[in-house]
Amino acid sequence: MPSRQDGMEMDPNFNKGVVVAGAGPVGLTLALKILRAGIPVTVLEKRDTVNEQSKASTFHASTLDILDTLGVLETMRAAGTQIDCVQYRRPSGEILAQLDFSLLEGLVRHPIRLHYEQVALTRLMRDLFLAEGGRLQFGAGVTGVTQDVAGVVVSAADGSTHEGFALFGCDGAQSAVREAVSIGYVEKPYPGMVLRLYSQKSMRDYFPDLGGIVYLHEGEDTCSLLEMPDCWRIVVRVPAGVSEGEALSDAWVIDRLKGLLPIEEILPHLSGRDVYSARRRHALGASAGKVYIAGDALHLTNTKGGMNLNAGLHDAVAYAAAAIEVAASGDYTALDRAAWERGRVARDLLIPRTDTNVGTGSARVARIAGIAADPVQAVEFLAKQAMLDMLAGVPAGVVGQGDRANG
Ligand SMILES: Cc1cc2nc3c(=O)[nH]c(=O)nc-3n(C[C@H](O)[C@H](O)[C@H](O)COP(=O)(O)OP(=O)(O)OC[C@H]3O[C@@H](n4cnc5c(N)ncnc54)[C@H](O)[C@@H]3O)c2cc1C
Repeated sequence: MPSRQDGMEMDPNFNKGVVVAGAGPVGLTLALKILRAGIPVTVLEKRDTVNEQSKASTFHASTLDILDTLGVLETMRAAGTQIDCVQYRRPSGEILAQLDFSLLEGLVRHPIRLHYEQVALTRLMRDLFLAEGGRLQFGAGVTGVTQDVAGVVVSAADGSTHEGFALFGCDGAQSAVREAVSIGYVEKPYPGMVLRLYSQKSMRDYFPDLGGIVYLHEGEDTCSLLEMPDCWRIVVRVPAGVSEGEALSDAWVIDRLKGLLPIEEILPHLSGRDVYSARRRHALGASAGKVYIAGDALHLTNTKGGMNLNAGLHDAVAYAAAAIEVAASGDYTALDRAAWERGRVARDLLIPRTDTNVGTGSARVARIAGIAADPVQAVEFLAKQAMLDMLAGVPAGVVGQGDRANG
């Protein structure tokens, strides 16, 4: 019988451990945390490798504290770009507002923002999980689940079956686990698309004192500039009615950005460009019996402010703490409570917050300038952008010095 790291024996009914669907960043984080408590974990992944697509880049202070407790933050910081402030500027260079993340000192242990590729985190988590004895099956997408008083039995596309005391559906937006247990969702697409340009030319060639995350504003027009370890990303909304091909063309890019940046000069220095569309969605429940869903399976939002993966990592840590409690007690209350909390955070905080972030107009920038000028409001604003109020279910002390930030 496996014994927990704290020396306590697990309830014998729970020896079979847990099954996690999806080797994305959320599934692997959840899996690693549970494994480290001495509980067996099997991760089933549909693909033959981890997803190598470029997606999330922004990690907020709350998540950095969490990643630090997992022992991966130093590696991430060494390869990522540390961001110390957020700026709102005009193309002329004028700073409309600047908020320094150092204002979060005392609320978190890492009062910064980090730009780092999602896939690098996924690889790190995969390597740790395997090195520490976790079972990871590629080419084994979950196809079905049955459950009874003893736990869950999960079937995979490679013909294998797996037993656990719980199944965690971390299998992304099209979650087969969510489908299998008939959890519905509500959703609404955001109009239009988002275009990303990857520039090898530094944006500091145009604005010497540029921060690493900048919202450029001219009247009602805006774009974002993100400093990454290997490039600058220029991110701009594409209105509804513009096709993908058109949005990727030089002519459209020049026309769209000429009021904000010397885009004709930047164009030859682009190493890539892509477009994607976003939708807001939340599942109508985060659990069904002994099946729990997290990450994109539970919530989707727009990418402005970079919050959805961060929230998924918070889901992972909250579920892991609850699963460890359940394995010891044999009582599922902790997991059911965590599911309720994470569903509430997604519906009542995450999605409304990201909807507000999408607002681009000059009125919003004027409001932020007012906030930046008042230290009390500035801390409150940054704490919300760092998602310190979205930590329900994350054990006290994981983020910040004590439980002040987790309140
Ligand atoms: C362009 C872009 C930029 C973004 N930027 C940010 C950002 O800066 N900050 C932020 O917080 N978020 C951001 N996001 C959101 C972020 O990428 C997602 O929230 C994140 O990928 C969610 O992780 P996940 O592990 O829940 O799901 P996924 O990353 O989708 O992983 C799910 C895994 O499950 C696997 N799978 C699928 N079906 C099955 C099955 N049936 N059985 C087993 N496995 C299965 C998939 O192959 C995949 O490996 C961005 C998204 C996009 C598209």
